[in-house]
Amino acid sequence: MDFKLTEEHLMIRDAARDFAKSELLPGVIERDEKQEFPKEQIKKMGELGFLGMMVSPEYGGGGMDTVSYVLAMEEISKIDASASVVMSVNNSLVCWGLEKFGNEEQKQKYLTKLATGEALGAFCLSEPEAGSDATSQKTTAIEKDDHYVLNGTKNWITNGGTADYYLVIAQTHPEKKHKGINAFIVEKGWKGFEIGPKEQKLGIRGSDTHSLNFNDVKVPKENRIGEDGFGFKFAMKTLSGGRIGIAAQALGIAAGAYELAREYSKVRKAFGTEIMNHQAIAFKLADMHTSIEAARHLVMKAACDKDNGENYDLSGAMAKLFASQTAMDVTVEAVQVHGGNGYVKEYHVERLMRDAKITQIYEGTSEIQKIVISRSILRD
Ligand SMILES: Cc1cc2nc3c(=O)[nH]c(=O)nc-3n(C[C@H](O)[C@H](O)[C@H](O)COP(=O)(O)OP(=O)(O)OC[C@H]3O[C@@H](n4cnc5c(N)ncnc54)[C@H](O)[C@@H]3O)c2cc1C
Repeated sequence: MDFKLTEEHLMIRDAARDFAKSELLPGVIERDEKQEFPKEQIKKMGELGFLGMMVSPEYGGGGMDTVSYVLAMEEISKIDASASVVMSVNNSLVCWGLEKFGNEEQKQKYLTKLATGEALGAFCLSEPEAGSDATSQKTTAIEKDDHYVLNGTKNWITNGGTADYYLVIAQTHPEKKHKGINAFIVEKGWKGFEIGPKEQKLGIRGSDTHSLNFNDVKVPKENRIGEDGFGFKFAMKTLSGGRIGIAAQALGIAAGAYELAREYSKVRKAFGTEIMNHQAIAFKLADMHTSIEAARHLVMKAACDKDNGENYDLSGAMAKLFASQTAMDVTVEAVQVHGGNGYVKEYHVERLMRDAKITQIYEGTSEIQKIVISRSILRD
């Protein structure tokens, strides 16, 4: 077992770290306050190859492994989790799903633009009555001549207003239940496709979350992904990898908060000494560091499983469950280490604490991860 990163991995991590510090840190507080999408920054991330990291160079991607992707996700998330969720959705849900399961025409037409950042993607599974229970899809896609007619509402869609292409999951054959579900590529601007108002959120406020309405939207048959009825499997397979990205996001949020708390403890004085010299603070930092390191090992294990062609359903779920809990625990403690300063915006940790919560909710709540994990360990 070799715990060492390669030179290439270290270069990617450093490039992401530099980008986050130079391009994302300035203005991150204001974007959070105004719920402003980091448009220019995301454009630059596309130009630097952060939006299609794992896509084959044949389609304009970086051809990198999952380890590289999680290293970059961690660094971006330390500074700006709103930018990193855009990166995560585009890389591990949209691009990965299209490259793995799309046909050649779909890849040429859509993936080449998504991988370079020329276009942005969204992944549309959740509905008002279908969140954790994704089988209960109410959005319908009914076959008619050379197209499908799409009707329904999707909820909580990341990149909802800013995306160009949307992967939409919908029910075609309700009698077949989840085996009747399909996945489609839908373009922004198609007749009957409306973007609902932007959600007002607790955290990741710079990201762009909307509901979407489909009213008799005509989707050409060639935009269905995979065989008829493949949509539910498509969504589950894609989310399984997506969870590794969100686990890395949670890890980054935790690590970012920890680093700020550690540095603060070296300069803030109370009772005539730096607060790091109070054991209560030093022990908090020891606990934070230990749980972050444990989370990092789980994230890396899941990424390595994916890169090695092993099944990563279990390791990805464990990584997300543990890293998201770590993000919550560590950010709360980071605020505590900062005292009153932790409660105001300019010290960043209050934002990281708000951002941490979403990692326990999207791409499968913590309760759903426990279902995945328990089923997996009890099946063997
Ligand atoms: C900011 C944000 C961005 C998002 N981005 C996207 C996106 O891009 N695309 C997309 O498709 N979705 C997205 N989502 C939706 C997200 O994935 C869902 O909110 C999530 O899956 C939970 O679904 P729900 O909100 O309907 O909660 P529910 O399913 O109603 O769950 C409510 C509670 O019940 C628990 N629960 C439900 N079923 C069980 C069970 N069987 N056993 C134990 N506990 C259970 C849940 O864990 C949770 O605690 C986003 C959500 C948010 C808030």
